[in-house]
Amino acid sequence: MSDTTEHNNRILVTRSSIAPLDEYIEEIRDIWDTHWMTNMGTKHQMLQQELTAYLGVEQLDLFTNGHMSLELSLQALELPKGGEVITTPFTFASTTHAIVRNGLVPVFCDIDPDDFTIDVTQIEQHITEKTVAIMPVHVYGNICNAEGIQRIADKYRLKVIYDAAHAFGEEYEGKGVGTLGDISCFSFHATKVFNTIEGGAACFHDPEMGSRLYDLKNFGIHDPETVATVGANAKMNEFCAAMGLCNLRHVDEEIRKRKRVAERYRSQLEGVPGLQLNAVQKSVKPNYAYFPVIVEENIFGTTRNEIFDALEQEGIGARKYFYPITSAFDCFRGKFDPVETPVALHVSEHVLTLPMYADLALEDVDRICETVMRMQK
Ligand SMILES: *Cc1c(COP(=O)(O)O)cnc(C)c1O
Repeated sequence: MSDTTEHNNRILVTRSSIAPLDEYIEEIRDIWDTHWMTNMGTKHQMLQQELTAYLGVEQLDLFTNGHMSLELSLQALELPKGGEVITTPFTFASTTHAIVRNGLVPVFCDIDPDDFTIDVTQIEQHITEKTVAIMPVHVYGNICNAEGIQRIADKYRLKVIYDAAHAFGEEYEGKGVGTLGDISCFSFHATKVFNTIEGGAACFHDPEMGSRLYDLKNFGIHDPETVATVGANAKMNEFCAAMGLCNLRHVDEEIRKRKRVAERYRSQLEGVPGLQLNAVQKSVKPNYAYFPVIVEENIFGTTRNEIFDALEQEGIGARKYFYPITSAFDCFRGKFDPVETPVALHVSEHVLTLPMYADLALEDVDRICETVMRMQK
């Protein structure tokens, strides 16, 4: 087999959804008439409207990426410097970095072993007089125990900012997940269920929050002669917004196709001793963003890393996601002790996310499952 065939046959862990080229060209055509390429043009305004409706949220603002929506949302809440934010380390770097980059202190709570979201029964033990907010993550699109979190937030007067990067288009008890908490932030990165190439959004209820977020993403400029606050620049440009408008037309179909892939995986891996699949949440309309498998080597017979290597050999790209946990990052060495969240640490050392995207062929899913099952001892 030549190198190129090998390359072509390789199954990547994800493959970005992208609308047909003709559709995108049609969508961006009028940018050549107006020369309006960024600064909240018509594409930006349309996408903002369409996403507000699609996600079923009150207010939504667009950002250059998901991370800036998280980082600026925390900043917009004007929390006291040095304040503690209760969060989990079983997440992407962005969540923890957003806290630290705001001069706030992450306090790591452990996760629930079934859905990998924050364990609500452990939140209160982390609360001190310095606690200012809770920042939970809907890991793999599994929705956090929102009532439990809100009850604690109300009792201690804490803000709640959800990292909803994995939860695009999901509903929790019939309501858009973007309505949860004070603010919910989505990522529209190319690898996510819905993408704008790079992009993100913050969803919120308070219009005052909207004007602060707007200031923060556009230098605090109110008019050419009035700069009211020290803002950053995190505007979504028109080409990204245009990609979003196109991709949004196809996203329901993309999620349906992901569902087929997830069901195929389940039909082959469900009930295999030593393989824990993602919990199915009854009150959630899922988006099938990821297909995580937890490998317990003392039952299955081989380790996560051995399976990862075997898949690599077959040209199948799986991902150790999330590994390591953020509290074990080099940049935080000496600051946190990863052992303090034993469940998160264990899951990070045993999890493998298998390839998952809308166009993944079911025969390829079969081949992936066969490769995994060959490793059973
Ligand atoms: C992707 C992701 C982000 C950051 O989003 P970007 O758009 O890549 O900046 C934040 N949190 C989680 C959990 C993510 O997966």
